[in-house]
Amino acid sequence: MSAGLIEVLAQFETEEACIAYLEAARWPDGVRCPACGGGNISKFTTRERRRAVRDAQGSVTDTRRIPSRHLYQCGKDGCRYQFSSTAGTAFERSHLPLQTWFRALALELNANPRLSARQLERELGVSYATAWFLHHRIREALKNLR
Ligand SMILES: [Zn+2]
Repeated sequence: MSAGLIEVLAQFETEEACIAYLEAARWPDGVRCPACGGGNISKFTTRERRRAVRDAQGSVTDTRRIPSRHLYQCGKDGCRYQFSSTAGTAFERSHLPLQTWFRALALELNANPRLSARQLERELGVSYATAWFLHHRIREALKNLR
């Protein structure tokens, strides 16, 4: 790993740091409501919880972790829209932590000549399916930039 890459990855050590980065990049003049454009925005965090996984008979067989989410809410009367920092971006709906996305992005950008999904799997400690998904989404996004 290059020194530059380590520096980039260190910046994205926590989910909060990733959100702060994304927030500053998207809304340099302060967070605005995507629904009404209002600037009276409050932030809140949902608590991490576990959801029961049931079998066909309805017995609880396992639990799944629902990570805490960092959300915004518009304070304008009649709007009150709730959104996340990833709403409307490539990161939306993936359910992957931003940390994983940013680390994958940093690795892909620094790869010489290019990274394989297998390398991403090893570097990030995610499943191959996740690594493959990230690899292709990022490749696609980078192709559109060039
Ligand atoms: Zn609003």
